[in-house]
Amino acid sequence: MTCTGKARVHILRALALMLFLSAAGTAALGDGETAPARDAKQPVDDTYTAKIKKYTTQPFFTSPLVDYLPASKNVPTPEAVLGDVAGAPGILPYAEDVYKYMRLLEKASPRVKVFSIGKTEEGREMIAVAVSSPENLKNLEENRARLAKLADPRTIKLDDEEADRIVAQAVPVYYITGTIHSPETGAPTALMELAYRLAVDESPYIREIREGMITLITPVVEVDGRDRMVDIYHWHLSHPKDFYPPLIYWGKYVAHDNNRDAMGVTLKLTENVLQTYVGWKAQVLHDLHESVPYLYDNTAGDGPFNAWVDPILTDEWEMIGWRNVSDMTKFGMPGVFTHGVFDTWSPGYLMFIAAMHNGISRLYETFGNGGADTLPRTLDPEEYARTWYRQNPPLPKVLWSQRDNNNYEQTGLLTSLHYFNENKRLFLKNFYLKAKRSVTKPGAEGPAAYVLPADDPRTSSQVELLRVLQKQAVEISRATAAFTVTLPAKKSTKQKKDAKDTKEKDAPATPTTREFPAGSYIVRMDQPYSRIADALLDYQYWSPDDPQKTPYDDTGWTFGELFGVQVTRVTDPKVLDVAMERVKDIHAPAGVSGEGAIYAINNNAEPSLATLRYKLHDASIEAVEEPFESGGKKFARGSFLLRNVSRSQLTDAISELGLQATPVSAVPSVKTHPVRAARVAFVHTWLSTQAEGWWRIALDNLGIPYDYISTQTVSKTSDLNAKYDVILFPPVGFFSSPTAIINGLPSAWGNPLPWKNTPETPNLVGKNDSTDDMRPGLGWEGVANLQNFVAKGGVLLTATDTSRFALSIGLADGVSVGNAQKMKIVGSVVGTRLVDAASPIAYGYDEKLSAYCDNGPIFSLSSVSGARGGRRLGGEMHTRPTGRGTADDQDFTIGRPGAEVPEEPKSEIWENPLLTDEQLHNNFRAIPPANRARVIFRYADSKELLVSGLVEGGDEIAQHAAVVDVPTGNGHVVLFSINPVYRGETRGTYSLVLNTILNFDSLNAGRKLAEK
Ligand SMILES: [Zn+2]
Repeated sequence: MTCTGKARVHILRALALMLFLSAAGTAALGDGETAPARDAKQPVDDTYTAKIKKYTTQPFFTSPLVDYLPASKNVPTPEAVLGDVAGAPGILPYAEDVYKYMRLLEKASPRVKVFSIGKTEEGREMIAVAVSSPENLKNLEENRARLAKLADPRTIKLDDEEADRIVAQAVPVYYITGTIHSPETGAPTALMELAYRLAVDESPYIREIREGMITLITPVVEVDGRDRMVDIYHWHLSHPKDFYPPLIYWGKYVAHDNNRDAMGVTLKLTENVLQTYVGWKAQVLHDLHESVPYLYDNTAGDGPFNAWVDPILTDEWEMIGWRNVSDMTKFGMPGVFTHGVFDTWSPGYLMFIAAMHNGISRLYETFGNGGADTLPRTLDPEEYARTWYRQNPPLPKVLWSQRDNNNYEQTGLLTSLHYFNENKRLFLKNFYLKAKRSVTKPGAEGPAAYVLPADDPRTSSQVELLRVLQKQAVEISRATAAFTVTLPAKKSTKQKKDAKDTKEKDAPATPTTREFPAGSYIVRMDQPYSRIADALLDYQYWSPDDPQKTPYDDTGWTFGELFGVQVTRVTDPKVLDVAMERVKDIHAPAGVSGEGAIYAINNNAEPSLATLRYKLHDASIEAVEEPFESGGKKFARGSFLLRNVSRSQLTDAISELGLQATPVSAVPSVKTHPVRAARVAFVHTWLSTQAEGWWRIALDNLGIPYDYISTQTVSKTSDLNAKYDVILFPPVGFFSSPTAIINGLPSAWGNPLPWKNTPETPNLVGKNDSTDDMRPGLGWEGVANLQNFVAKGGVLLTATDTSRFALSIGLADGVSVGNAQKMKIVGSVVGTRLVDAASPIAYGYDEKLSAYCDNGPIFSLSSVSGARGGRRLGGEMHTRPTGRGTADDQDFTIGRPGAEVPEEPKSEIWENPLLTDEQLHNNFRAIPPANRARVIFRYADSKELLVSGLVEGGDEIAQHAAVVDVPTGNGHVVLFSINPVYRGETRGTYSLVLNTILNFDSLNAGRKLAEK
């Protein structure tokens, strides 16, 4: 323990307390800390305690902290709502019941206060429950003001002594969040009982926690998913002999990925927890999960650690984690450990809100049964192996109950709370120091700021990125005048190595300057939450040589790149002296400049263009197929020409979209085609909905309407063209093999798995889809229906695994998927290059585009039907045969004049190979030029493929097609190897999908065909 002056006082106080406790006959720990033991004077609730004992399957699956329940005359126990004790078999409360109990506690005890913290996508409430002494709860605002000074050291002029004075008075806030992952069901009951214990128990161990700190509890984070999970469990209880349906939907949009949203803050639950965490100025965010026996504190995990977290925090992880293991080991509880397989690289986890906002992130994996059944559980050898970090491993085979799980969760939390309270002055001081180091960042590791220039043509995407930062509580400023900064010289080590001239080698690269116009946005790094802005806007590099070979999640995420907007990292400290003002409401410039019969809107691949098309259903909109100029303004390919719309209508429609319309006096002479509001079907499977959930939320936020249908509906709809122009089949994610998509889940045995609302399952469907039986897949009728749809002129859009599916069953010809040998692109940002700027799919895009790739399929093109395009690694396909002369010479044949060697047709890796006359001779397989695949974007060359994250063996996919439009019958199959819509992070590639939708009946525009 660090022995600062304040801490010494604290130790003395603890020592005095220890003496008092010893006198009272209570055991105490050697270092002055209070031992866990109940208050002999406080009566115990015998009935409740007896049930705890009954439901605990082994005497060592509990601890002296939770093996009893103190009695209270006026405060109800969880039994009041549950009808049994917390963790009892067969009982899983809805969120509403959990809240009901928390509010009963609030009513009965001055030590509990319940706060509403927002709503979910389906309108359910989220709450935070504060448990502390009545005095602490009375002084919440005063205390918050103290904590706010530590959280923002600028308010006390970075005065360490003043900070010490505040640290000595402030009461810390420890924020616990439960059941974000809906099949991990134990936390709500554990947290109900924990709240009761903290409010009622008079044992010194608990009293110290209550009086010394504020415990804040959100018992259910994924409220929509919790209610669905409880429904499923009820269904299971009333059909005990049947298989029960897997939880296909958790929240309205995503499942497990709800714990990967802490960067983009797309989901309500993330936003609500983030606001609560930051609003309360909490020191810890401790998130509860249940997938590892019996308690894995996976806060710290394995390397590599996130580069943007303060090392003070990584030390705190170890301190609290190992102490937690130690305390629970002393209780004799097996299977408690820290370290393990989790790496701490990605900041997308909910707990990382704390790590990125100067607090302490923590996460438990306890052992859950996915419901409240008591079950025999058998572990894998690696789960019960004794390792260096798990000296007391879990047992190979046990009977495990929800109560056991609740015992572990509560014991872990109580020992953590107690340890934190014992050391709260240290942790509060650290909280201040981490904030201070965030503020002093420009002068330390840098950078000084990030600048988003005012002249970026993607103004609405720029605003969206800034709004993400604002949700993260980052301050945004705006320059009131133009300014110039010095940018560091770019090192090019490779060139230097190759340079033969020593002078050239030693020549220092010169720094450059850059001028930014007035109105440019500045994200200052001398602010308390600079860390999260830096982590999101910077680049990531994961070395292929890193000892960690299995990244836990994405390796790269650079937001400027994925949003398609310009972001400059500025180390020059002068940027902080630029004249600027703080901005709260950020809006992109929007409006109509003048009056006319025709208005033009430039196309910069802004997703809001698609919103506009659907908003103005009566307006006639055309897209220009070539760039044009009007009134001195340049308009790119794909720019909109609008008619039948009044200025006021247009102004209303575009003001919130960040678009600018200009009247044009004359119709430009370039070719145009109509931009129609396509009728869109959005197809999902009953295998997994998570990956498509990110597409749904993106379309919903943009206001693009669609019919949400399952593969089962596709199989039953013979004339899809009657209803739809475009079918989106976004990635499936898990279990997405082509056979699984067609066959679905096994139905040769077992029982139907219904996903519909019934009296037992009132919450299951929500606003999503339903079925009597989740098992059937697309089926061969569905395949035929899709085939017909495209043949008759429909557009089918697929990405990653659904592209594999479409190609493997021959929905598109002339494209094949190669097998990766060494390639490892694990959730990385990669470079792509524009190949066909005339394609409507590319409207608004530049030559270079960054995209999200997760081992995307390697597309190869062929001009021969059914042939596999080779996986070519670049370079010449044929070298000359062995013979006379040098490598470039021709061989000779003795005794006759040399024959001219015809030149082989050459094509680039991303192109359709040209066919020779020989290959075309009676070749009914040769694909006519108009039917060949059209490549819109390709992956960058190997050296430029990596933008952020990990790219290993990138040669295998470099230069290969990334976005392909395959004319098929009268329609098109548009295939993506990248995932253009992902976790609210990839706004820059949304328009590839939206352009396909808007130009569905003109996708061949601008196409140039090969001669043969
Ligand atoms: Zn989990």
